[in-house]
Amino acid sequence: MRNLVLILGDQLDLESSAFDQFDVAQDKVLMIEAVEESTHVWSHKARTALFLSAMRHFAEALPKKKMRVLYRSLDTHNDATLVAGLAATIIAEKPQKLIMVEPGDLRVQAGITQVCDAHACPLTMRMDTHFLCSKADFARWAGKTKTLRMEFFYREMRRKTGVLMDGDKGGDKGADKPVGGEWNYDAENRKSFGKGGPKDVPTHPVFAHDAITQEVLRLVESRFASHPGTTANFNWPVTRAQALVALNDFVANRLPQFGPHQDAMWTTMSFGWHALLSSSLNLKLVCPLEVITKAESAYRQGAIDLASAEGFIRQILGWREFIRGVYFLDGAALKNANHYHHQNKLPGWYWTGKTQMNCMQHVIGQTMQFGYAHHIQRLMITGMFGVTAEITPQALCDWYLAVYVDAVEWVELPNTAGMALFANGGRFTSKPYIASGAYVKRMSNYCSGCRYQPEVKTGANACPLTTLYWNFLDKHIDTFAHNPRTALMAKNLFRLSDDERAAIRVEAKRMLKNLDAL
Ligand code: FAD
Ligand code: SF4
Repeated sequence: MRNLVLILGDQLDLESSAFDQFDVAQDKVLMIEAVEESTHVWSHKARTALFLSAMRHFAEALPKKKMRVLYRSLDTHNDATLVAGLAATIIAEKPQKLIMVEPGDLRVQAGITQVCDAHACPLTMRMDTHFLCSKADFARWAGKTKTLRMEFFYREMRRKTGVLMDGDKGGDKGADKPVGGEWNYDAENRKSFGKGGPKDVPTHPVFAHDAITQEVLRLVESRFASHPGTTANFNWPVTRAQALVALNDFVANRLPQFGPHQDAMWTTMSFGWHALLSSSLNLKLVCPLEVITKAESAYRQGAIDLASAEGFIRQILGWREFIRGVYFLDGAALKNANHYHHQNKLPGWYWTGKTQMNCMQHVIGQTMQFGYAHHIQRLMITGMFGVTAEITPQALCDWYLAVYVDAVEWVELPNTAGMALFANGGRFTSKPYIASGAYVKRMSNYCSGCRYQPEVKTGANACPLTTLYWNFLDKHIDTFAHNPRTALMAKNLFRLSDDERAAIRVEAKRMLKNLDAL
């Protein structure tokens, strides 16, 4: 054999640079299902099922292109680890070289490099052309700026790609003019549903389980029976064709209302107007540019307004690319970051949703049902509680990596450690994302069915989110008072009497000691 081409579970793209110069006569593709990928964090059953089903579908498509595939499944090879499967294949096949696209997880990258070194197998890691900004370009941009801010990176990406730019020659070659005159239309987005709740909640496409998916669901339910979550509601795209159906359905039916509804939460609504495209993007079943182009075309054809188009495109062209850049810039440091030295354990109910806090119960319950929660649920419910409850960032990062179907470390870690937990001390955010129960009350109906009361800070009915919010402010008041973005929060704390502040401290201490009982 000449080249062994390794394809990982989140690299399912037939146009991948891994296949450049592939010679069907001399090269083979290797794919490995490894137990460790479901156990190094205690993975949700739906997450494992998604990866295995999508990998098996992808492997099935390769022989149609005359490619020979070495597929090591959990049934046939039962590799404990990816590197064990790789080492066994290198020994058996003796390839002249291993070729792959750079992995999106530094742990995996280090493991593969070690195996190749140990077996004297030359390794070529090719650039991941799925992304619109290379690691090197991001590092160059980051090197030129004092503070890493997504908004400025996003403008660069708009200029570079010409997306939502005015004039015939947008981007680097032409006018520096965003469509509509503004770069960002967030002010018109992010509304609550109001007291009446969401109206005309859209449905989503249903993906029938073919024989491959049925087999995988059986395998996961038996091999990983004790793992969190369920596969009972499994409905994620596992092929490129299904991912394209999901994309078209989103652009036609939900994107028009995406902007205004993207932050709102409601007990009877799990998906709302969200795209549900992150798992398809992260497994590389669809590529970011085709998603962006589809949304931009819908705007240019008058099907959606600019605020919704821009708000959505910013998530992909801005946040997604930015977050990846940060991961490869800061990776190892992010993994160990703990700016506030938080030491609390993750309460057991993060794995079940069995807590008296209605907001946490709903978001975690939904997460266990589907392996999905939208951005604000992740950031302002489970994430915000995590930071004010002083839970160690590493425990929370492992939880987020385990429970979401779209979780791959390059995207999970910066979002969790960096954005939700401020564990890196605000390297790319200007303030911690914290709020009291009043925010949850405004953005959802969670509080109306809760045993706690969102405005109460102390006593039997005190809302833990509220008490812990004020306690967190109180503890870190110096930094909050001196940051213009948080000065108003500090001012509100100063309005409380000394007695009130002391009572909050006592109440918070009691809660922090008994997180499992909340
Ligand atoms: P929509 O809300 O409809 O957004 C559209 C798309 O934009 C998403 O599909 C996604 O590809 C992209 N996007 C939006 N925000 C982000 C972001 N901050 N970072 C990267 N991409 C973004 N996203 C993941 O893909 N994997 C993760 O493991 C992950 N972990 C997260 C952990 C925390 C604590 C937080 C706060 C956010 C996390 N996100 C993660 C980002 C975001 O929550 C999800 O991408 C989004 O909820 C996916 O749902 P959707 O496809 O319906 O997205
Ligand atoms: Fe959550 Fe507090 Fe509202 Fe209960 S009252 S749902 S704990 S914010």
